[in-house]
Amino acid sequence: MLGLMQDWPLRLHRLIDHAARHHGARPIVSRSVEGPVHRTDYAAIHRRSLALAQRLAREGVKPGDRVATMAWNTWRHIEAWYGITGAGAIYHTLNPRLFPDQIAWILNHAESRLMFCDLSFLKLLEGLAPKLPHILRFIVLTGPETMPETSLPGAVDYESWLAEADGDFEWVAGEENAAAGLCYTSGTTGEPKGVLYSHRSNVIHALACNAPDMLGLSATDRVMPVVPMFHANGWCLPFIAPLSGASLVLPGPKLDGESLQSLMQAEGVTFTAAVPTVWLGLLQYLEASSAPLSTLKRVVIGGSACPRALTAAFERRGVHVVHAWGMTETSPIGTICGVKPEVAGRDAEGTLDLQETQGFPPFTVDMRIVGDDGAEKPWDGTTFGNLQVRGPTVTRGYFKAERDALTPDGWFETGDVATIDPAGYMHITDRTKDVIKSGGEWISSIELENLAMGHPDVAEAAVVAARHPKWDERPLLVVVPKAGREVSRDSLLAHLAPQVAKWWLPDDVVVVAEIPHTATGKILKTKLREQFAGYFGVP
Ligand code: AMP
Repeated sequence: MLGLMQDWPLRLHRLIDHAARHHGARPIVSRSVEGPVHRTDYAAIHRRSLALAQRLAREGVKPGDRVATMAWNTWRHIEAWYGITGAGAIYHTLNPRLFPDQIAWILNHAESRLMFCDLSFLKLLEGLAPKLPHILRFIVLTGPETMPETSLPGAVDYESWLAEADGDFEWVAGEENAAAGLCYTSGTTGEPKGVLYSHRSNVIHALACNAPDMLGLSATDRVMPVVPMFHANGWCLPFIAPLSGASLVLPGPKLDGESLQSLMQAEGVTFTAAVPTVWLGLLQYLEASSAPLSTLKRVVIGGSACPRALTAAFERRGVHVVHAWGMTETSPIGTICGVKPEVAGRDAEGTLDLQETQGFPPFTVDMRIVGDDGAEKPWDGTTFGNLQVRGPTVTRGYFKAERDALTPDGWFETGDVATIDPAGYMHITDRTKDVIKSGGEWISSIELENLAMGHPDVAEAAVVAARHPKWDERPLLVVVPKAGREVSRDSLLAHLAPQVAKWWLPDDVVVVAEIPHTATGKILKTKLREQFAGYFGVP
């Protein structure tokens, strides 16, 4: 027997319909790519997204077509996501920081038909266009006054193109399991892989992640997603904000410390989210300038492990750090470090201990740790295991791949190694390939990096495995000193020694001017490993 409740497919337009109707006047503020700060609201975004869907339909875009975006976080990018999915098509985000050949490969693999792009990327795309046979037209996210000459096929400025539709349109209907978004993993090894979200998975993810112990946004929040919409589904914030009625403050192309601080302060931002490297930049600016950050209450940090020193620096400024773990494949949030009663009421140091963990999953994500034999490992806080997850917001396979990506019993292998403590808090130890295997024991590179970052003269730290004649691998610490400071091997090892077991201490320290990063702002361990694997003389 079926229930007697209404059939209401969980389509993404429901979110912007809701925001327009119940939170219509809420400000959406953007730093535009052209420069000036732009202001709109959910009601206007809703109207323009409808027009965009209508205009796309007139362009011949059909349900299931892929429509690419290469754009910063602005109101126009939000309109594009809702307009594309409202036309039944699939937003396909492109990370402009990837190598041009990789961008071309991804666009051709996805067979995207149209592309919305920011002015910032015209040169890049003009160079690539001859290699992109599927893209019929480039819609440049600007108005007629600022539209430059370009050789891009079918190029048109967004505002003129959009003005050709009046918005008298019904969202294209479809089932909730239809594909809605496509995002390729950064692919540090092998070709990038496409993760294909559905309307349903995005709506469920937005609902689940907004529970009070998760992100818990409200209509009184002013949310600044610094994480670009081209990283891992924009951490779902373009869906969670309209769902909760929160105001959005979008940073556009300027992600340096000064630009972020000035926009946050001027617009009263209460909540923000990004990878650790962005926040290191902001805090360095705050230290150097004494500029205020008085409205910010919470910052979500994820994408790579959040160093304890970074958490402590925010907490000292009265900003609560919410550590989160996730992957492109998990929509992307897998766990969030909320506070359960079992761990509440800790002192400042105890709270920092907790914040070093990546927390526990929202409802709809299930997790476990297993050994290489597939047997489940205990939740004792010390036993390492391979982290696996499952649920309706976790991928089961990749776009155009023949096989599912799951274990025979239906779990997704994350490629991360973790512990889980008795209260259910998960702590990432390493990527499987980054863990250092020394004399049969495992050393966590993340843990060592975290501690090294606590040294007062260190701006950034990475620990990699270097081959060793006796122990197979030993840790090598690579550090970048803070501007104007010097840091020595001895002072670093003296700093680490009281905090780790003797056999965990790095065998050497290399001081460098810069550590390489991936296109999503993570430390590029593959490159460092290549560079330093033979450091101890073993070829
Ligand atoms: P991506 O799909 O590019 O977002 O990369 C996902 C990977 O980033 C995960 O599998 C982890 O290795 C890493 N990651 C994400 N969040 C964290 C975190 N809070 N701590 C440690 N590693 C993380």
